Amino acid sequence: MDVKAIRADFPLLNQEVNGHPLVYLDSSATSQKPTQVIDAINQYYRLNNSNVHRGVHTIGTRATEQYEGARERVKQFIHAQYVEEVIFTRGTTTAINLVATSYGRANLTEGDEIVITQMEHHSNLIPWQQVAKATGATLKFIPLEDDGTVTLANVEKTITQATKIVAIAHVSNVLGTINPIKEIAEVAHRNGAIVVVDGAQGVPHMKVDVQALDCDFYAFSGHKMCAPTGIGVLYGKKVWLEQMEPIEFGGEMIDFVDLYDSTWKELPWKFEGGTPIISGAVGLAAAIDYLTVIGLDQIMTYEQQLTAYAIDQLEQIDGIDIYGPKKRAGLITFNLTDVHPHDTATVLDSEGIAVRAGHHCAQPLMKWLNVTATARASFYIYNTEDDVDRFVNGLKKAKEFFGDVF
Ligand code: PMP
Repeated sequence: MDVKAIRADFPLLNQEVNGHPLVYLDSSATSQKPTQVIDAINQYYRLNNSNVHRGVHTIGTRATEQYEGARERVKQFIHAQYVEEVIFTRGTTTAINLVATSYGRANLTEGDEIVITQMEHHSNLIPWQQVAKATGATLKFIPLEDDGTVTLANVEKTITQATKIVAIAHVSNVLGTINPIKEIAEVAHRNGAIVVVDGAQGVPHMKVDVQALDCDFYAFSGHKMCAPTGIGVLYGKKVWLEQMEPIEFGGEMIDFVDLYDSTWKELPWKFEGGTPIISGAVGLAAAIDYLTVIGLDQIMTYEQQLTAYAIDQLEQIDGIDIYGPKKRAGLITFNLTDVHPHDTATVLDSEGIAVRAGHHCAQPLMKWLNVTATARASFYIYNTEDDVDRFVNGLKKAKEFFGDVF
């Protein structure tokens, strides 16, 4: 991977923050955007902007072709079987809520179980809490090992014949744990349950083949993979999507409308009520092209190497807790002993280094870790060993600074 060339594609990275060259280590929250994506959106608005699926005029046809072309691009990228299995949403949260509300409410009843884990992001927890309350189903949690992994033995123990839905992150946004989705799907299917994958931290960083994983639904966000905010995807197996009712009603999603009743368009449009996220889809297609040229396998390997390089150095610092398993995705969640993570992040920011501090939208996981908050450094294609060195030195400064205070 030519990281120097990649960095040059990201204009935002080329700036000073608080008098230091920026080191951006918050890509798990949102990634930066390359010129190729910014230009694609710019060009769309300059040349092709129109509403889609309606007009007979040339610009409208171009916009429709770009929007539907983006869907085809997503289909290839995640290796879906049919293009109509790709629903554009606002992001992962909206995608999971669509499954929970539409599929969940129609298929769950008292006595049924929804199985998730304690490592879930709030976006893959609260929709299930809500659907459990509405239907009388119960939520069950696959126990985590001490290092924050899920074992198949525990998966087998937790999923039963009463389980109807298993909802799990592909990659934890806090621990970096990579969950064995294919194996979990096998256990779920054997018990007659479906599998919903929160892929927010999966698709941006690794090759995802939804057919090979055999998941029933897979949700992800464009903004964590070089695309703009406001666009995401719900992949769903056609067999389920066809049975599901829309949850948003209005323009674009209808076939025929009368005073007291209406019918819906076929897939995927019945789930895309209102003017869709056209420029977002154009940006997402450009992001997919960009990442595909680099290669998702290379991205994964590079991020893991960078993470290992960082962990080697962090482990030499006295008084640091690093959370999560050895084999992990490209992020490191940690705390300096006796230093609040917000203070750590503030000292790093004064050095031009951006890390995240807080509960990372995973309060039950913070409880499991027995902390109220943590700091997190997350890596992407544009980060370098030099970024890691700056980060480690910044942490040493934070330790010295607060060491003097305490
Ligand atoms: N799940 C995980 C694992 C995430 O990291 C995130 C984003 N932090 C989400 C879900 C929610 O994504 P979005 O805010 O884009 O809907």
